[in-house]
Amino acid sequence: MTILNNSFNTPYKTAPFSKIKTEDYLSAFNIAIEKAKAEIDAITANTEAPTFKNTIEALDYSGEELDRLSSIFFNLNSAETNDEIQKIAQEVSPLLSDFSNDITLNEALFKRVKAVYDAKSSLDLTTEQDTLLDKKYKGFSRNGANLPEDKKEKLRAIDKELSQLKLKFGEHILAETNKFEMHLTDESELSGLPEGAKEAAKQLAESKDKDGWLITLDYPSYIPFMTYADNRALREKLSKAFGRKGFQNDELDNQNIVLKIAQLRFERAQLLGYKTHAHFVLEERMAETPEKVTSFLNELLEKAKPAANAEFEELEAFAKELDNIDQLQKWDSGYYAEKLKQKLFDLDDEQLKPYFKLENVINGAFTVANKLFGLQFEEINTIDKYHEDVLTYKVTDSEGELVSIFYADFFPRAGKRNGAWMTSFKPQMIKDGKNERPHVSIVCNFTKPTKSKPSLLTFNEVTTLFHEFGHALHGMLANTTYPSISGTSVYWDFVELPSQVLENWCYEKEALELFATHYKTGEVIPMELVEKIKASATFHEGMQTLRQLSFGLLDMSWHGIDPSNISNVKSHEVEAFGDTSLYPDVAENCMSTSFSHIFQGGYSSGYYSYKWAEVLDADAFEYFKEEGIFNKTVADKFKTFVLSQGGTDNPMTLYKKFRGQEPKPEALLRRAGLLK
Ligand SMILES: [Zn+2]
Repeated sequence: MTILNNSFNTPYKTAPFSKIKTEDYLSAFNIAIEKAKAEIDAITANTEAPTFKNTIEALDYSGEELDRLSSIFFNLNSAETNDEIQKIAQEVSPLLSDFSNDITLNEALFKRVKAVYDAKSSLDLTTEQDTLLDKKYKGFSRNGANLPEDKKEKLRAIDKELSQLKLKFGEHILAETNKFEMHLTDESELSGLPEGAKEAAKQLAESKDKDGWLITLDYPSYIPFMTYADNRALREKLSKAFGRKGFQNDELDNQNIVLKIAQLRFERAQLLGYKTHAHFVLEERMAETPEKVTSFLNELLEKAKPAANAEFEELEAFAKELDNIDQLQKWDSGYYAEKLKQKLFDLDDEQLKPYFKLENVINGAFTVANKLFGLQFEEINTIDKYHEDVLTYKVTDSEGELVSIFYADFFPRAGKRNGAWMTSFKPQMIKDGKNERPHVSIVCNFTKPTKSKPSLLTFNEVTTLFHEFGHALHGMLANTTYPSISGTSVYWDFVELPSQVLENWCYEKEALELFATHYKTGEVIPMELVEKIKASATFHEGMQTLRQLSFGLLDMSWHGIDPSNISNVKSHEVEAFGDTSLYPDVAENCMSTSFSHIFQGGYSSGYYSYKWAEVLDADAFEYFKEEGIFNKTVADKFKTFVLSQGGTDNPMTLYKKFRGQEPKPEALLRRAGLLK
C-alpha cells in the first residue's frame, strides 16, 4: 500500500504532495482499480433486490480513492509534469479506459440499474436522485447496453472504425501542417511583421539549417504573418496553403474520411434509436434538439448579418483607400482589420498593464466573490503545495464555515502545459451525512514578476483570471449529495456560464475601482481607457459572429441530417455556408477537411455552444446590471439555483429559476453592439 491508498492524514485531508513518490503512482493505481472493482462486484453480488440506494447511489460513491488518485496524478501531469510522470500516464491511461469499459459492458450491473430505472415512477425520488438515475442509465444505454448481441457487435465495430478514422484525420492534418513551409530570403518580404515574429521566423530557419526566415502553418507563425505582413501575394500563398489541408487529392486527403465519419456517426445514432447523430448528442445538452440549435443559429444570423455587412463595407472602403484594393479576399481580412483597429482605438497592452498588478487582480476577484456570495479568502501555509509558486487559501462563508480549499498556480514553467484551466483535487459530496467540501484549483500562465517589476497582467489575462475563477466558484459553492453531478459536472453547453459571466465584472467601473489601481501611483484606471477596452472588445463583432455561426451551421449540416446523399464535400460545404459568406469562395480550399473540432475532437454537433454560452452569460449579466452588479438578491439566486446545484437538474430549469425566464439573445446582441 502506498500513501496514496490510505486516507490522508493532513489538514482538511489535502493531498500530501511532499510525501508522494512518483514511483508509487503505478502501484497506487493498480491497488485503487482493484478496490473500485471490488466495490462494483459488491453491488452486483448483492442478493437483495436492486434499489436506488444499493445500486445507483452505491455506484456513484464507488471508486472514490481511484478518482482522488486520478485527480492528483492528471492535474500534476498538466501543471507539474516530467518524463517520468508522462511515461506513467502512458501506462495508466489504458488501465483506466479498460476499467471504465468493464463497467459500461457489465451486464449484471446494467440489469440492476435498469431494474431501478424501470421502476422509477414508483420510487418517490428527489429531483437530484431522479437526475442521477437518468444519467447512470443513459451511461449504459447510450453505449448500446439495450441492444441485442449482433447489434452490440455492430456498434463496437463502428466505434472502432470511428476512432481509427478520427486518428487518421488528425494525422493527416498534422502531416499537412508540418509539410508546408514558406522560405523567405529577402527581408523586404517580411515587411510589416513585428520584431518578435521576425525573430521567431529567423530562429525557425536556423533550427533547420537554413538562411533567411521560415513561415509555417503553425498558429504562432501563421497568425502574425496573416495579421501584419504587407506583402499581399505572400499572404495569399500562405492563406491558400492553410485552407488546402486535407484537400489535395493525395495520400493526406481527408474528403473520404469526412464522408465516412459523418456516415458512421449517423449509422451509430440510428442503431441506438436516434434520428441523427445530432439528436443523439443533443439529448444530453441544454439545447436538447437539432431544431433548437439550428433556429438559434439562424436567429443570430439574421440579427448579426446587417452589422456584418456594414463592417465588411467599411473594411473594404478602408482597404481601397489604403492600398487601392478592389475586392477584399480572405487573406486581407486579418491584415486590414488590424490596421483599422489601430487607427480607431490606439490601445495597447502596455498602457493598461500598470493597472493590473497580479496581486491586485487576485484581491479584486476575491472582493467580487465576497460582495456577491459572502466568501472570505484567507491565505494559508499549513497545507502541502506541489510547487512553491502555488498559493493556497482557505475559503469560508459569512458564518465562518469551511467552503473550500483553493489552490492558485499562476506562472509558467517547464512542466506546465499552455493555457489556463480550472480543476479540482477533491470533489464536493454529502456522504454518510457529512458535507465533504471540495479542493479547487486554477492554473494559468501569466508573466512572472522580476526583481524590479511585479507581475503586471494584460487585460486579456485579467479576464482569463476572472474566467477561471468563475469556474472555481462553481466548484467551491457546490452543494449536492452525489459526486458525479456536483460542481462543474453539468451539461457541456452550460458549463461556461459561471466562468463567462464573471468576466463581465472586468468591464464595470464599480468593480474596477476595487482593484484596477496603478501599481506605482495607486491611481484608479481612467474610465476613458475602460471605454476603449469595451469598444475594442466588440470591434468587428458582426463579422466575428457570422464566422462562428458559419462553423456552427457547417457542423449541424454534417450531423443533423442523413448524410447518405452527400457525395461532394466541397459543394456540400459551400451550400451549408450559404448566407454566412462575406468573402469570395476559394475553390482550392475546404474547411471541412481540416475542421478538427468536429471531425477529430469532441465538438461534433457542439460547435454552436460557443455562441450559446455567450447568450447565456450576457443574459445572466444583464439581470445583474438591471438590479446592480453587486445586488445581493440576484447574487443569492445565482448561487442557489446555478452555482450550488451542479448537474442535479436540467440546466434550463435551473436557469429559469434564477432568471425567471428562458435566456434571450437580445442581451448579447446589445452588448456586442449589434442591436441598434
Ligand atoms: Zn472556461
